Amino acid sequence: MSARVIVVVLGKQGAGKGTQCKRLAQHLGVPHVSTGDILRAAVRDRTTIGLEVASILEAGQLVNDDLVNRLVEERFNDADTAGGALLDGFPRTEAQAEALDQILGDDGVKICINLDVPNALVAERLSSRRVCQECGAIYRDSDIEAISGTCTNCGGDVVQRADDMPEAIHQRLEVYERDTAPLLAFYEARGLLVRIDGDQAPQTVTAEILDALAERGVA
Ligand code: AMP
Repeated sequence: MSARVIVVVLGKQGAGKGTQCKRLAQHLGVPHVSTGDILRAAVRDRTTIGLEVASILEAGQLVNDDLVNRLVEERFNDADTAGGALLDGFPRTEAQAEALDQILGDDGVKICINLDVPNALVAERLSSRRVCQECGAIYRDSDIEAISGTCTNCGGDVVQRADDMPEAIHQRLEVYERDTAPLLAFYEARGLLVRIDGDQAPQTVTAEILDALAERGVA
């Protein structure tokens, strides 16, 4: 059996997927693959795909499955994914989960972590979230980086994402319930689902995820 570490991290928007994947990537030495980051970079760089998806992202709707599946397939051609990847924001629909199985072949998803958080906390986290447009570092609105507008990691601009505005947050949570929540049953049926309480200090969440990975012999 191959030792490729493929971890799917699920959870509502604002559950802490990005924060946890960044931390886990350092621990595990596999890249953090965020389809949201890939799509936002395309929008920022005004590529053909970026121009196609910009209004969809802004409205908090999902980009079509074929396009996202293609981006992920291409990403898995990159050498840095040879040892595995932490998937953040993908899959988001059952069709994407099935496409992921196809892309990975026999060496498939090893574990799916769901970060459980109550809706009220998610809404609060998203509306106070600020991000660096360059490196994706995540801040809160009260952080010095958010107030100054400059990232301490890379000097990039720290902004509020358009889809973190109240209207889009509501839309995204509806889309999550409709399209993404069914994936919990999908991975549970395969015996791959582990639920972690996301309403804890980030380091506690990371430690619990690493324990779950170790218990299952994933990493
Ligand atoms: P995220 O950063 O994961 O919240 O993603 C931001 C936005 O990118 C989402 O609201 C969608 O518009 C789009 N997006 C990211 N990942 C996917 C995906 N797997 N399928 C469809 N759309 C996606």
